[in-house]
Amino acid sequence: MDECIFCRIASGEIPATIVKRTPEALAFRDLNPQAPSHLLVIPTRHVSAVRDANLPADEAMLGRLLQFSAEVATELGLDKGGYRLVTNTGPDAGQSVFHLHFHLLGGRSLAWPPG
Ligand code: AMP
Repeated sequence: MDECIFCRIASGEIPATIVKRTPEALAFRDLNPQAPSHLLVIPTRHVSAVRDANLPADEAMLGRLLQFSAEVATELGLDKGGYRLVTNTGPDAGQSVFHLHFHLLGGRSLAWPPG
């Protein structure tokens, strides 16, 4: 999707602070961090949101994306204190970029429930 900002980051057209990548997944730092470590984990292929994933075809990709996210968290040392992995889906959740992404947040104590 030409106009999708995260597709453009995945293709290298728009710069981002990339932490880890595979052909299928990308982790980069959020521009407006809400925690000492705040990354976004995305599939490099355009999927609008988790509710728009094609099941069962995307099952394996989603599983690998979660595994990739956990690897990033471990490599950043976030697994010791813990971290939050969350995806906003649709307007009530405040999704603002319509390319599936998991927020990986850590490095401080996180409140629950979120606002
Ligand atoms: P959401 O509101 O869940 O859709 O999250 C979108 C996130 O993308 C927000 O936390 C933004 O700060 C972040 N964001 C938007 N544009 C960029 C960008 N070019 N590079 C890094 N993060 C971005």
